Amino acid sequence: MLNLILFGPPGAGKGTQAQRIIEKYGLIQLSTGDMLRSQIAQKTELGLKAQEIMAKGELVSDEIVVGMIKSIVHGDKSAKGYIFDGFPRTVKQAEALDNLLSEINEEISQLILLEVNDQELIARLLNRGKDSGRADDQDVSIIENRIKVFKEQTTPVMEHYKAKNKAVSVKGVGSLDEISELLYAVLDKL
Ligand code: ADP
Repeated sequence: MLNLILFGPPGAGKGTQAQRIIEKYGLIQLSTGDMLRSQIAQKTELGLKAQEIMAKGELVSDEIVVGMIKSIVHGDKSAKGYIFDGFPRTVKQAEALDNLLSEINEEISQLILLEVNDQELIARLLNRGKDSGRADDQDVSIIENRIKVFKEQTTPVMEHYKAKNKAVSVKGVGSLDEISELLYAVLDKL
């Protein structure tokens, strides 16, 4: 299996590029952000818990997101591989993911960081907020908090996979096609 972590700050383009990669490589996309928003839309207990935290741009608890990922990784045995987008966001989540995959005799093949500067991220997210309806994309201070949370709590995840020689970075600024080509070049070597 090809198990990929598409990594990067909010607005780096993980979701957009993940869509292209799943089509080309036949992987299953797992986006914890999408899963959480679906729980909110369905007004589940989990969704109600997550909603306030997400509105502030803070991280939902590791237990909640790991629980969501677990049911899928264990449920689908026919997958060619997974592409994790927006997960893991803490070292604890990364360790839980490594354990989950090892239970099915799998491991992370590669983490790819999409590198984008803060100014560009803020501009992209504000732009997305105009029609995404996502409240966390419409307020500069919330966006700045998400970037800060990424730097403080999420960047150690990259170190975790660097130590296993599994982390690379790719320039995340340019046309969508240019960025896809850089990603495909990494994936084709795996
Ligand atoms: P973005 O990458 O643009 O921030 P996401 O959809 O990945 O968008 O995440 C939106 C919000 O959902 C995050 O700010 C956070 O509150 C919550 N969230 C998503 N994934 C996780 C995760 N793995 N751990 C904790 N919180 C998460």
